[in-house]
Amino acid sequence: MPLPRRIRLARGVRGQDTVTPLETLRRKAAGCTACPLYRHTTQTVFGEGDGRARSVLVGEQPGHEEDLAGRPFVGSAGRLLDRALGEAGLDRSRLYVTNAVKHFKWRKDRSGGKRRIHERPSQSEVEACRPWLEQELSLIRPEVIVCLGVTAAQAVLQRRVTISASRASPSPRRRAFAPA
Ligand code: SF4
Repeated sequence: MPLPRRIRLARGVRGQDTVTPLETLRRKAAGCTACPLYRHTTQTVFGEGDGRARSVLVGEQPGHEEDLAGRPFVGSAGRLLDRALGEAGLDRSRLYVTNAVKHFKWRKDRSGGKRRIHERPSQSEVEACRPWLEQELSLIRPEVIVCLGVTAAQAVLQRRVTISASRASPSPRRRAFAPA
C-alpha cells in the first residue's frame, strides 16, 4: 500500500530521514540575526504544515505562547484560527501556516504582569524578515496565500494596504487576499 504523501515527503526511498529544502530553510532561519528581534525571544518560530499545500496562511508574528513553543498559531490566535478553519471545513494539516516576522516582538506588561505584551513589528523588521517568507512561498508555490492582517498583507504584496480596503479582496497579481 502506498505511503501517505506526508510520510513520503519526510522519508527517503530506503526509509531514512531526508532533509527537505523547507527543513533546510527552517534550520537556517533558526540562527537568523538580521534584525534585533532575536535578542529578546526564545527562538525563531518558522512556518509549519504541508510543504505542498495549495494554500498558505500568513500571520503577523508569533505571540507569547508561540515563542515558547517554537510553533506558529498555537496560542489564543491559533485556537481562533483552528475554530475558523473547522467552521470552514478546512483541515489544518493540509495547509501551511507561517508569519511575516519569525521572532516575537514584545514589551513588558506595565501593570506588572508576567505575560509579555505583543508589539507590532516595524516596517524595517518586516523587510528584514521578508526573505524567509519569500523563500517559504517560493518552495511551496501555493495557489492561494491568505493574509491574516495588514502586516502579513503588506509583506506578501510588498505595498501599503489597508484592511478596510482589501478585506476579502483577491489580489490576482499574487493570488493573495485578506479574509472577511
Ligand atoms: S525577526 Fe526575522 S529577520 Fe529578524 S532576526 Fe528574526 S528571523 Fe531574522
